[in-house]
Amino acid sequence: MTKTIDVQVNAQSIAAFKKGYPLILKDAVMNPEVLQEEGTLIRLVDKYRKFVAKGYFGHQNKGIGWVLTRDDNEEIDFAFFESKISSALARRESFFEDSETTAFRVFNGEGDGIGGLTIDYFDGYYMASWYSEGIYTLKHHVYGVLDKLVDYKAIYEKKRFDTKGQYIEQDDFVRGIPGDFPIIIKESGMNFAVDLNDGAMTGIFLDQRDVRKALRDKYSDGKHVLNTFSYTGAFSVSAALGGARETTSVDLAKRSLAKTIEQFSVNGIDYEAQNIKVMDVFDYFRYAKRHELKFDVVVLDPPSFARSKKYTFSTAKDYPALLEDAIAITEKNGIIIASTNNASFSMKKFKTFIDKGFADAGSRYKILEESSLPKDFRTNRDFPEFNYLKVVILQKLK
Ligand code: SAH
Repeated sequence: MTKTIDVQVNAQSIAAFKKGYPLILKDAVMNPEVLQEEGTLIRLVDKYRKFVAKGYFGHQNKGIGWVLTRDDNEEIDFAFFESKISSALARRESFFEDSETTAFRVFNGEGDGIGGLTIDYFDGYYMASWYSEGIYTLKHHVYGVLDKLVDYKAIYEKKRFDTKGQYIEQDDFVRGIPGDFPIIIKESGMNFAVDLNDGAMTGIFLDQRDVRKALRDKYSDGKHVLNTFSYTGAFSVSAALGGARETTSVDLAKRSLAKTIEQFSVNGIDYEAQNIKVMDVFDYFRYAKRHELKFDVVVLDPPSFARSKKYTFSTAKDYPALLEDAIAITEKNGIIIASTNNASFSMKKFKTFIDKGFADAGSRYKILEESSLPKDFRTNRDFPEFNYLKVVILQKLK
């Protein structure tokens, strides 16, 4: 086991830790010089050296680590990881029993008690994502616990921290019997092709499960659905299975074409009857306006930041303008699914972007539904900043 060092934190952060706030912010630490080696276990203490909490050191965005326990007697060892992971598995029992959905999150970082680590389940395969070098040094515990507690086909991993070029051609296989990818997982009865050994992304973002279901069940029948930033076209598949008259998927990445064809095909949908455009969304908006195209439903789920040859886009700055473009090509009474995974602003702020987009477009709307992360992406209600997903389904009134 790695060594434990004392780290002095300021009064303001102590008040937060006492309420259960799990992230150790850079500014909270009074003696940062003691923090040298990622993965070091740390005891947070006040200025009188009195115990506050225990955690680990690992750089991740605005934090330098996560609190793991507020009990000085609790050791951060194999048993600790086992207890957190077994509770997380128990909480997902209903997911494991649901034969209509075979992919979901089994461990959601701080929401399940260990910040910086997530574990996703894909029909017998487990995929661990590591958000700092620090937590990655503790991986032997996590894989040991999975060996003990679950019956996996194989374990894969994603390193979501700066590996300084060391793992460019990395193989994400950890142990078990390597999968024959793509595998087909089920979600609300739909099929999706998934590859756990093909770079950072797997082919599907599990956190949008409820939105895909809503799109299929409530908003697609007989409609023309435009899916912008479509990636592998998962929303388009939901729309087509919900009876959409036509779908149009737009993504800039060349590989999105083959991936989208694949997602349609594994659902028995004739991809040739669907429109798949490999192009910049902002160019597509112009094209659609020029050709006076209008859509009944528009899905807007951009990345937090994007830079293409011509445009840079940041959700925190440009969402109103993006929405204004979408409003212009949405039918009256049409639906816009406005989504963002940007953790840096709240739902309240997101709604001000929606207001501004509609005001600038000279249009009006009403909100039909709003949602955030699904149940398997467990978060602490007291700290909404970790519930990064914000989805508003709205209707354009004029
Ligand atoms: N909505 C998708 C996930 C989007 S991931 C889903 O639910 O599956 C973000 C996608 O945006 C990536 O596939 C990326 O290629 C695409 N992208 C980024 N900038 C873009 C742009 N300017 N025009 C079109 N696509 C873009």
